[in-house]
Amino acid sequence: MNLDSAFLKGLTGEVVTPLNPVYNSARQEWNRAINKFPLVIVYCESKQDVINAVLWAQKHKVSIRIRSGGHHYEGYSTGNFVLVIDISRLNALKLDKSRNILQMEAGAKNTEVYDLIGSNGYVFPGGTCPTVGVSGFTLGGGWGYSSRLYGLGCDNLLELELVNYQGRLIKANRYHNSDLFWACRGAGGGNFGVVVSMTFQLPEPAAVRVTLVRFSYAVTTKEKQAKVMDIWQNWLPGLDKRLTLSVSFYNEEEEGLGIFGSGFFYGSAEEARQLLQPFAAVKGFQADLQESSFLEAVKKVEAAYPPFEKFKSTGRFAGRSYSPVELNHIAQLVQNPADGSVYAAVTFYALGGEIASVGKREKAFYYRDARYIFGIQSVWTEDAFAEENRKWVRERFEYIKSITEGSYVNFPISNLKNYEREYFGANAERLNRVNGKYDPFFVFRFPQSLR
Ligand SMILES: Cc1cc2nc3c(=O)[nH]c(=O)nc-3n(C[C@H](O)[C@H](O)[C@H](O)COP(=O)(O)OP(=O)(O)OC[C@H]3O[C@@H](n4cnc5c(N)ncnc54)[C@H](O)[C@@H]3O)c2cc1C
Repeated sequence: MNLDSAFLKGLTGEVVTPLNPVYNSARQEWNRAINKFPLVIVYCESKQDVINAVLWAQKHKVSIRIRSGGHHYEGYSTGNFVLVIDISRLNALKLDKSRNILQMEAGAKNTEVYDLIGSNGYVFPGGTCPTVGVSGFTLGGGWGYSSRLYGLGCDNLLELELVNYQGRLIKANRYHNSDLFWACRGAGGGNFGVVVSMTFQLPEPAAVRVTLVRFSYAVTTKEKQAKVMDIWQNWLPGLDKRLTLSVSFYNEEEEGLGIFGSGFFYGSAEEARQLLQPFAAVKGFQADLQESSFLEAVKKVEAAYPPFEKFKSTGRFAGRSYSPVELNHIAQLVQNPADGSVYAAVTFYALGGEIASVGKREKAFYYRDARYIFGIQSVWTEDAFAEENRKWVRERFEYIKSITEGSYVNFPISNLKNYEREYFGANAERLNRVNGKYDPFFVFRFPQSLR
């Protein structure tokens, strides 16, 4: 294909093709194990740039991928020979303090929102990784350390604006295109159109300080991991909703086996210590509880993230208690990491609280009554070990799938049969209908799009 200016005519914003020196960095996703070669990447700086890109792609019969923060686990925000519509520069933020409302252009990242919101005394129910795109996060539901108290990211969304397949800007909220609004709260990523802005209702600014909760265990064994999993599953139902946390059971290249819990408690360190008491029953428990402002706590969490990684990871919904035999099997999953793995883990992300107060059919995010998200991951550094590590996750995923009830679309996996049903449960049929209405020619298509 001839990538000359006549061919690219109509595209506006910064246009990057394989002939451009920045192409190699521009095509990269946060997951560096994704290695795709788009035909064109366009960095949109205005809504009009997005409109032009959507129209251009159809004129030239080039498939579209939408990219905000570029954190999709399987790399579905890019592809070979596609047009990547990158909205990361469309990231202006506006805070309306009189109504506690945040207006956000859809390319903003978690850290950008936290900085503005936090420095104005607000909290924001975003994700843990600083560079995840808030729109990508929210369109798939959006779990973070404030979720049990304030709901998922999508539960705080009031309205969005989207560029549809005709290049028209349409609004969706409770009153206007309410079916699209319903669908975009859990199943909007990559489907329906390019979301260019979002409006969030923020929780009342809270005077209360946040306790950053972190805990670990000295000298971890497989038996200890299984025991702590058991404490977790008995402890979580009925837990004070001001506490949201995740716990990882891992096997790290240098350190070996470990357990690490972290999250936010909207209350004092002393109260948090009380709540964590059951975990102290297992020997070697060490808690680090730091009270601070919301923003300071967020900054400490952000600091733990590397600028990128090579990984395979996915997550399912756990809805029941596991027997001792099952817990032993779950702990076994991380005992023998793949060759070249630097970090292998299963991680439990607490649900419940406000997340469960919404009905399963009220929004596209379906698994409201699950107890926690059950994640698995493997991280490597040398490309030679990529396939080995992917296989390691895929094999263990089969067992996890057999004891869980659905997949979290923000923690996706490519080899998933009936993926609509797995991601969206009984909401899948309605979602496909809504998709047929708003994107009748499947212009916004990717390997796991609605059909
Ligand atoms: C290190 C790391 C940490 C994470 N932590 C969390 C977490 O704490 N909680 C959680 O819930 N998830 C988490 N995730 C998952 C993350 O929320 C999802 O991968 C999310 O989809 C990423 O959004 P993005 O914009 O960064 O990624 P992208 O790759 O740009 O987009 C992800 C998907 O959403 C679509 N999309 C993005 N923006 C738009 C838009 N504006 N309009 C239409 N479609 C769009 C893309 O086409 C793609 O299909 C994490 C992921 C990583 C890699």
